[in-house]
Amino acid sequence: MKYSLPRLGTFVLLALLAVACGKNDEVRPADTNDNLALGNPSGAVTSTSSPTNYLLVKTQYTVGYNRDAGKPLWVSWHLDQNDLGSAPRQDDFRADASLPSGWYQVKATDYVGTGFDRGHNCPSADRTATVADNSVTFLMSNMMPQAPNNNQQTWGDLEDYCRTLARAGNELYVVCGSYGRGGTGSAGYQLTIAGGKITVPANCWKVIVILPTGSNDVSRITSSTRVIAVNTPNDNSLNAVWGGYRTSVDAIEAAAGLDLLSALPTSVQNALEAKTDTGPTK
Ligand code: MN
Ligand code: MN
Repeated sequence: MKYSLPRLGTFVLLALLAVACGKNDEVRPADTNDNLALGNPSGAVTSTSSPTNYLLVKTQYTVGYNRDAGKPLWVSWHLDQNDLGSAPRQDDFRADASLPSGWYQVKATDYVGTGFDRGHNCPSADRTATVADNSVTFLMSNMMPQAPNNNQQTWGDLEDYCRTLARAGNELYVVCGSYGRGGTGSAGYQLTIAGGKITVPANCWKVIVILPTGSNDVSRITSSTRVIAVNTPNDNSLNAVWGGYRTSVDAIEAAAGLDLLSALPTSVQNALEAKTDTGPTK
């Protein structure tokens, strides 16, 4: 016998571990429609010692929250046709009581009269499978002060297009957010609202990764997967047509100070992030 029994035992154990790890790679939770499957763009953590980069996890979406700006840095979610049902728009805007105690909770009325919409990051219409799912999108921790024409036209049309793609048999990983300070709503330019508790962003951006519906999503993303990156000025005089605001993921990363799609292999990230989409817009 070439191998002693203990050595054979070790070999079998290592072989079993290798099989277990290999299998884990194939079915890790990140591949199962997880809202944060493509990575945490800012390394946000759920800790009160990280108030400007706080990880806020909902079943319906995941937020990198900035307490001192009173809005998300980014929100990430998965979208497919299972998210789209018949639940009506709840319109129950409200403070997010799940924020750590002592932190300012943005109120439903904080945007009133400012000339800025309560702009959803994760859209209401992306979460209509149940009333509960829809209601969670109305937490003020999912909102940013957005110029009305941006929210209702440019972004609204982009959001519609995402749902069109989902209904056509695709699944989408979406991450959006806002950065900078100072925007122009329907009542003019503002740096902040609510007495300084909420920063008005200068730009609102969105990155959308589109796959045919399937499993093992992360491993199916290649350098030829369609990625749409859009960066719009938070200015009420912007163009209603979103297609003209397409840019590269790299440009958004540089402007917002984030690492998007960080769960993808570096080679895939480099290829996808350098491109600007030229595909259809409706
Ligand atoms: Mn990059
Ligand atoms: Mn990246």
